[in-house]
Amino acid sequence: LEPITCIGCGIEIQTDDPKKEGYAPAASLEKEEVICRRCFRLRNYNELQPVSLSGDDFLAILNGIGEKQGLVIKVIDIFDFNGSWINGLQRFVGQKDILLIGNKSDVLPKSVNRNRLINWMKAEAAKLGLKPVDVLLISAHKGHGMEEAMAAIDHYRKGKDVYVVGCTNVGKSTFINRIIKNATGMGEVITTSHFPGTTLDLVEIPMDDGKAIYDTPGIINEHQIAHHLDAKDLKAITPKKELKPKVFQLNAQQTLFIGGLARFDFMAGDRSSFTIHVSNELTIHRTKLENADALYASHRGGMLAPPTGESVEKLPPLVRHEFSIKNSKMDVVISGLGWITIQHPGVVVAVHAPRGVNVVLRPSLI
Ligand code: GDP
Repeated sequence: LEPITCIGCGIEIQTDDPKKEGYAPAASLEKEEVICRRCFRLRNYNELQPVSLSGDDFLAILNGIGEKQGLVIKVIDIFDFNGSWINGLQRFVGQKDILLIGNKSDVLPKSVNRNRLINWMKAEAAKLGLKPVDVLLISAHKGHGMEEAMAAIDHYRKGKDVYVVGCTNVGKSTFINRIIKNATGMGEVITTSHFPGTTLDLVEIPMDDGKAIYDTPGIINEHQIAHHLDAKDLKAITPKKELKPKVFQLNAQQTLFIGGLARFDFMAGDRSSFTIHVSNELTIHRTKLENADALYASHRGGMLAPPTGESVEKLPPLVRHEFSIKNSKMDVVISGLGWITIQHPGVVVAVHAPRGVNVVLRPSLI
């Protein structure tokens, strides 16, 4: 039997996973011409759907464009810097310039210093071997910073093609859809008069100068906490509105649970305050350190939630990370979840987070 392929992009049709390439509803197989959902939405609504690939398939695509000239835009989620990092990106980038774009700035509380966040992103990128030509903050959802971003793209692409890469869930589709919308307006720096089209692997958004913006599939990064949670729990941990920082005055040997996803232990030091920056929907529970293990064992998935339902079993065990805060105000960042500001130095703290989830210190953003 011949595999059924999409009349738009030629990809093999599958009916199992709406999040993966080539998806079409089972009912559509009865039609003479089958079109995948991505091509369908693009044709009918001029709107891009997120699709995702596993690491190997993704890197194969990246290798295919390794020789090409152009600008690479790497979109990351500012709440999941490490979880939305793409290992092996450098190999594909070759000589191309990289513009690093941090998305979801709309949920940052007012108290956060934007420049400090940008500087931290630069430093982290350098540590990971990437030297972007520029680092920008945007909200693809609200449209904040989009005009600057479009101008920067046009400046740094130097008349060449643009490749947009990013992990799943960073908001890459929202960003591209913004670009398409903005680019079809009058008097914009980037203009596209033709409809975007799909090839097997890339969505091509033609620009008026004959070059194009290419959207690559979102890569699934196993370090994203998102992959251990079901849709409902993911919704709960993903900040949608501006974060409301929660301040806790703690004595040493007290513990805070962030839902059932992470735990913060104040190990040693004078009474001090700690500010939690996570989704407003997450509940924080305070307890004594000596009771914390037992509480977690008996209340995980119940009082300490999310995780709920099937995510309770799916979530990897918590791993402990200890930090001694010596000189200045610091943030303990739990990738994909948020951060805890340590308001006063001279304390020892420990954070327990699901195995694989990155936990790091950074100079406080406040
Ligand atoms: P993709 O998988 O990278 O293509 O990501 P999507 O564009 O599908 O977005 C993933 C999730 O992030 C969705 O729940 C979006 O609503 C949300 N999102 C995207 N952009 C923003 C943004 O600028 N701010 C906020 N708060 N959420 C965003």
